[in-house]
Amino acid sequence: VNYQLENIPVWKAYEEKVSCPLCSLEDKAERQYVSFYLGNSVMAPEIRVKINKSGFCPDHWKQLLSGRNKLGMSLVISTHLETIKPLLDKVIKTGISTPGKRGKKEETAPAGMVRKCPICSRIDHALENYSYTIIHLYKNESDFPPVFADSSGFCLPHTSRIISMASRFLNKKQKPLFIKDMQQIYRRRIRKAEEHLDGFQKKFDYRSEGEAMTREEQEAVREAVLFLGGSIREDS
Ligand SMILES: [Zn+2]
Ligand SMILES: [Zn+2]
Repeated sequence: VNYQLENIPVWKAYEEKVSCPLCSLEDKAERQYVSFYLGNSVMAPEIRVKINKSGFCPDHWKQLLSGRNKLGMSLVISTHLETIKPLLDKVIKTGISTPGKRGKKEETAPAGMVRKCPICSRIDHALENYSYTIIHLYKNESDFPPVFADSSGFCLPHTSRIISMASRFLNKKQKPLFIKDMQQIYRRRIRKAEEHLDGFQKKFDYRSEGEAMTREEQEAVREAVLFLGGSIREDS
């Protein structure tokens, strides 16, 4: 695999001190790709050919629907319907006539015809590049490790990406340093989350009556969910 370095957007995400740089980068990438498929590009037949077979995942269909290019969408949908017509015939026939196997349901269900959604694939590809860049900066730019060590790490869903990149691209000397930084970041983050959740819960006690909640306490549950579940889409 060839990874592409994305130093500028990665540095920017770190300067913004967001709760997960990969969440914020993912969010930007997603908006960009959704607007690509809503733009004039879908008028081009070669782009439509690609979408014909794959369609989109349910989440991205919904995001596309809320966009403005209804004509473009209608063209995409027309050719997509044309393509899935014969496939659907086959899926219904073989799906019903073959004895059902547990756990294999999604392969025969009509929704299983959706191959990898092109927006999801592009996001995944972008995230691989961003994760690779983070490890690359850690290895090669002396300015980066202190900023990294001072960050909030990543949400849990994105943490595994970084761990796997680190295991592949850091050398024997760099790994112990990276492990130490990561452990400290996560310990600090969880300790803070526990503190704020605890403070939040205490404010419900009659003994704390009249005491105002701090900003951190007000945000405690939301912040913890951002950590455990990754970015929350609030505009949809
Ligand atoms: Zn994240
Ligand atoms: Zn998708």
